[in-house]
Amino acid sequence: MSPSTIPTPLDPISEWRAWQTFTIIYTILLNRQIRRRWLLEQKSMQDRPLRERFRPVIFLEPVPTLQKPNTNKEATSNPFNKSTMDKLRTKAALLRARVEKGKELASEIERRMVQYPPIRFPTHFCHTCVSDGERVEVLLTTCGHRVCRTCIQYGVDEDGVYECSICFVPTGFVARSPLVLVKDCPGEVAPILRKGEVAM
Ligand SMILES: [Zn+2]
Ligand SMILES: [Zn+2]
Repeated sequence: MSPSTIPTPLDPISEWRAWQTFTIIYTILLNRQIRRRWLLEQKSMQDRPLRERFRPVIFLEPVPTLQKPNTNKEATSNPFNKSTMDKLRTKAALLRARVEKGKELASEIERRMVQYPPIRFPTHFCHTCVSDGERVEVLLTTCGHRVCRTCIQYGVDEDGVYECSICFVPTGFVARSPLVLVKDCPGEVAPILRKGEVAM
C-alpha cells in the first residue's frame, strides 16, 4: 500500500503550538535586528556633540512562550477558535515582515556609514523612503523609527493617527531632526506631534 500523499491535518493544539513557535523564532530574530540597528546608531553618533544627537530609542519585543493554550470556550487564546488561529497566523506573518525590514534598515545604515563622500549622519534618514535627514525633516516615532513628513502623510488614517510602516501599529512622535541638520528648515517649526495629532 502506498503512503497517502495528503498530510494528516494537525489537531488545533498542535497547530497552535506550531504557529506559536514561529512567532517565538521571529520575535527573537526581530530583537536581534533591533539591537543591531541600535548598536549602529550608537556607533555613528558617539563622536557628535550632544545637541546634534538624535537619541536612538530601543524597544525589544517581548518573546512569547509555549505556555499551555487556554481551551476554555470563552478564552481568547483558545486554539479551537478560528479567529484565535487567524490572529496568530497574521501575527507570525507581520513579525516575519518586520524581521526582513529590520535587516534592510540595518544594511542601509551600514551602507551609509561607509559611503563616499561620507554622510554626516548615516543613521538619520526616513525608514520608509530613505530620504536623507539633512535634506528633509525626519521625525522619530515612539516605536523608535524615523519617518519624513511626506511618508507621515501617506501613513495617516482618517482619524489622523499615523501607523508606523515598519511596526504596523499606530504610533506618535517623540522628537524631530535637530534643527542644525535640516538645510532648508522653515523659520517656524511645528510642535512635536503626539499620537493622533498630525498637523501638516
Ligand atoms: Zn519618507
Ligand atoms: Zn515603528
